[in-house]
Amino acid sequence: MKNYKLVILVGYAISFMGILVMTISYFRESLGLFFLGGFLMFVGLIAIISLMSLNLFFKDKELEIEKLRQMGLTIVVCKNCFKENVLEDQYCIYCGEKLGSDEDELQEEHKT
Ligand SMILES: [Zn+2]
Repeated sequence: MKNYKLVILVGYAISFMGILVMTISYFRESLGLFFLGGFLMFVGLIAIISLMSLNLFFKDKELEIEKLRQMGLTIVVCKNCFKENVLEDQYCIYCGEKLGSDEDELQEEHKT
């Protein structure tokens, strides 16, 4: 999520524009502009909220790996896609590559 902050910023910008349009509509006494502003604000807010929950979801995934590690499970990095897997899984959950057993050194660490 490299563009996360940028998209959030765009979301804020859209909401801000909505407020601006609503303010203008107040002075011009235009109902159409008022609804347009309200719509923009709504879209911006929805974008921000959905992105924030999405980001939370990704953070949860990272935490899960930490939890597994604390439970004493060995976390191995897939040689093919370099993503983290539990050694107890035989195949990479991301790309299906067979997880090698030459990570014995790591395993020993957890046994002691
Ligand atoms: Zn993989």
